Amino acid sequence: MVIRRLTLTGLVILLAKLPLFAHGTMTYTVDLRDTKSHTVHVTMKPSGFSAKTAHYQMPVWAPGAYSVTHYGKYIANFKAYNKYDHILAVTRVSDDRWDIASGQSVKKIEYDVLDSHKDTTSLYFAMANIDTSIFFANATALFGYYDDDKNASAQVRYELPELWKLSCPLDPGKDPDVIDPAGAALTRNFVANNYDVLADAPVLAAPTSVPATNAPYEMGAHPFRMIASSFHEGPADYDVAVVTDGPWSSEKMDSLTYYLDRIVHAETDFFHDVPFRHYTFEIVAPTLSRMPSFAQGALEHANASDYLVADFGWPMFKGYFLSTFSHEFFHLWNVKRIHSNLLGPFDYTQRVMTTSLWMAEGITEYYAHTLLSRYGIISPARFYSDVEEWRREMEMAPPSANAKSLEELSIDESIFDMGEATLFYSRGPLVAMMLDIEIRTRTGNKKSLDDVMLALNNDAKHGKTFREEDLIKKVEAYAGIDLTDFYNKYIHGTDSLPLDDYLAKMGILANNVPVPEPHPPMMIHSASDSTWVITSLDSTSTFATSGLKIGDRLNKVNGEKITKENVMDVLFNQDTIHLTIDRDGRTSEVVVKPRPLITSMHSESGPVTIDPNASPLAAAIRKGIVGSE
Ligand SMILES: [Zn+2]
Repeated sequence: MVIRRLTLTGLVILLAKLPLFAHGTMTYTVDLRDTKSHTVHVTMKPSGFSAKTAHYQMPVWAPGAYSVTHYGKYIANFKAYNKYDHILAVTRVSDDRWDIASGQSVKKIEYDVLDSHKDTTSLYFAMANIDTSIFFANATALFGYYDDDKNASAQVRYELPELWKLSCPLDPGKDPDVIDPAGAALTRNFVANNYDVLADAPVLAAPTSVPATNAPYEMGAHPFRMIASSFHEGPADYDVAVVTDGPWSSEKMDSLTYYLDRIVHAETDFFHDVPFRHYTFEIVAPTLSRMPSFAQGALEHANASDYLVADFGWPMFKGYFLSTFSHEFFHLWNVKRIHSNLLGPFDYTQRVMTTSLWMAEGITEYYAHTLLSRYGIISPARFYSDVEEWRREMEMAPPSANAKSLEELSIDESIFDMGEATLFYSRGPLVAMMLDIEIRTRTGNKKSLDDVMLALNNDAKHGKTFREEDLIKKVEAYAGIDLTDFYNKYIHGTDSLPLDDYLAKMGILANNVPVPEPHPPMMIHSASDSTWVITSLDSTSTFATSGLKIGDRLNKVNGEKITKENVMDVLFNQDTIHLTIDRDGRTSEVVVKPRPLITSMHSESGPVTIDPNASPLAAAIRKGIVGSE
């Protein structure tokens, strides 16, 4: 998973074992034709089960989302029926579990799933968002399992409103989809071999088009719609589904698809491995005024990843989110495959207490960035600036969180805490980078963290998980060095990180990326005459130091009108801004040269000082990590 501050995302998956003997089948129908009620109706017909008392169990938590959520809380009107369609007696034994005494008589159960996307115990992409023009659900919010048999297979049919499109990474079912005369699907059928596969298949649906209008674009005033693309890379096919209410151009979709393809190429090339044949990126990208929360982020799955990201203009979107896509995709190997025995097979009724998130999240976040640099998708300077941003993020975390070791934080993440969770995406990748430099330095750059990851993946490919207490021993074995001291200081312990010492080992003397603007630098409000009024201003921002004041009316930027469509780009995505303002009835011009809003976005030539006298080893380590001199 990963979380960004406006933001996070994901953690876990497991390969399901094939059943050794016949199991039951759950045949589901999910009716999406009345999403404006903020509910969907689910029907399930069990077959091949024989327990005296039948049970229906909703998961307590979702793999990859750290929190304990109790998905059963969002189930209403649970009913069971016999073959005469008579209602059977049902006992709700907990938030998440229902017992039906006459188990062998059950022919059908049905229930409503309620919208849960504002649940504060979890993040958006682990829940269900059910609204007039959007349906998103992590599958743990939709489906439980029957008679405690997680090996039972499932057939799922989604019933769609007209002219909607649905994205789901499950394999297609045997039944043909129902297609309307215009060629759009009214039903989509899928199959899952067992509950682990079913629970790992998020679904995203929205109208394919919206009614044409001549009215000027207005942020927050449009329904959501789905825009889709696809590409082929190596032996696999990839789908990209974006649901947005913003002005998403075909050029932007082409650019996104292009960069996703490059990320996929980089990471499958790194691992020499493609553990699937089909993969789906599901992206919910509302405009700022429609964001359901300031917690952006994403969640990994075996054949998909899901994102909640604000619909910034393309340069900002690219600058901010490429590493998020890179992070989730890297999880395919690091956590979905390479994981401790505690992270699968899953017990959906118990929270997971793992010490290994420094590996699952920290190492993933490190590679999410370093591979972008190595494969030329971002510049090395941008990577160095990301390092500084991690350092700052770590220093900004609450002192109580910084007093805990990465292993302690990992255990604590079963009780989700945003302030602590963000350390896996700052201290985590910094320790991973230090570990890489440590291995490279002590082996004369003959070994690196790459060797460790490739060897762990080779084990995992053959079904081997590791015991948590053995993880560091495995890293030592594959790196060929004793890491007791490193582990005791920075993973098991709470020593402060000697980052500058480690950067020096890769020949970097100083890493002085600029301090970014405060976030947000100012707030503006749209006035009725299509001008904008500054309603608050951070005194340390360049907007304030350039002379702007609260109450100033912004008329034009760089000679152009500011609209609800372009406001984000023209104000927050430019190197130099010429503002025409009204103050006390007088018009004047103010020039602002903003510092980067998000450091890493604008640091393509970040001021990093490379040591001219660095040893050949340091230069080789630097090249190994960032891909060039
Ligand atoms: Zn993650």
